[in-house]
Amino acid sequence: MSQSQPMQRNNSNRVSPNRNPAAAQRSSNATGLCLAPCPRATPMSGHHDWYTLKGLTHLDICPSCMRQIAHSRFREYFFPSQPKPASHRTRCAFSNPWARLAWTQMIKKHHDSLEMLYQMTRPPPGARPCPGRTATDQTWHRIIDPGTGSYLPRFHICGSCARNVRILMPAHRDTFIPSTEPQARACDLVTSSPRFIRFIDLLDAAATRAEASHLPRPDTRELLAYARRKVTLRDCRRDRPVLSTWHYIAALPELSVCEDCYDETIWPLVRARYPIARLFCPSLRLLPGDGPDHCREASCQMYSPRMRAWFRDAVARDDFATLRSVALRRFEAERRFHHRREELLEAEARGYRVSDEMRKAVEEWERWE
Ligand SMILES: [Zn+2]
Ligand SMILES: [Zn+2]
Ligand SMILES: [Zn+2]
Repeated sequence: MSQSQPMQRNNSNRVSPNRNPAAAQRSSNATGLCLAPCPRATPMSGHHDWYTLKGLTHLDICPSCMRQIAHSRFREYFFPSQPKPASHRTRCAFSNPWARLAWTQMIKKHHDSLEMLYQMTRPPPGARPCPGRTATDQTWHRIIDPGTGSYLPRFHICGSCARNVRILMPAHRDTFIPSTEPQARACDLVTSSPRFIRFIDLLDAAATRAEASHLPRPDTRELLAYARRKVTLRDCRRDRPVLSTWHYIAALPELSVCEDCYDETIWPLVRARYPIARLFCPSLRLLPGDGPDHCREASCQMYSPRMRAWFRDAVARDDFATLRSVALRRFEAERRFHHRREELLEAEARGYRVSDEMRKAVEEWERWE
């Protein structure tokens, strides 16, 4: 989709939430399809205003998420959670992308019950959670490439993510096949990766097409093409500083972009011949800087939906001044955050309790991210 129509905005028929948070925050959101980021994504104590859902009282939902989703057909299911003990730390259930996806899917498919959300948030006892980006020696679910008849190389999904896909899109019940050979790897459907939403969109599009044309199984060719391209690129390390090579604009080296985010966000606009996109050097290079080899560590500046939305807007309006100002402010906010985090980690090593301060620092950074 973004390849051929780079300027396309939110399409409310798609399942993914948060594609454009700037737009999501602006619009009133009657269906709950585009949710703004959750402010209580890390476990925290001291709040007495949690909500829960009839029959799903294992979930606690923060007022911000609740306000956005309670407009929906399930509004009468919400009621205040039981009071929590003072020391109890609670995380908002709707900070989990899978719970959000289940919600948007239930609205989109006009479900009458909360069964899908229940299934999604109640894994079977003993189920292994997704290992995320941590390489773990376990068995994986694989996808068959119909072109070769064998597994798509280097693409592995953990059992938990495969189960979530099946719950969300029953048409994909046979798309991911459990392989019996254990391997030490990370999961390729990790929710914090910028690739995640694209994988979900492609799965959803294939499932929707299969249902509409009564195919026995979804056509996964588009998904496979995307996965095949992505497994050759390093996954975005988000805000982790690394000494690496980057795509950047010579006049704005602060806006360093990893190869994955370049491929996703900038390359389609380069192909569509937008002047600002074409200012990026097309090859990966070391950044000019102050290290011993006159280069510096950097982190990717283009993984968040917020920055991608800003970038696309600036490119569409050919407004380099705004892009520069947004990029520099983000760059400074990230520097402040890394500095603050180091200070707090040092204090923690000396025995101080820093969790509240750390949470504040992370929340402040998430506003800029
Ligand atoms: Zn929330
Ligand atoms: Zn996983
Ligand atoms: Zn990136």
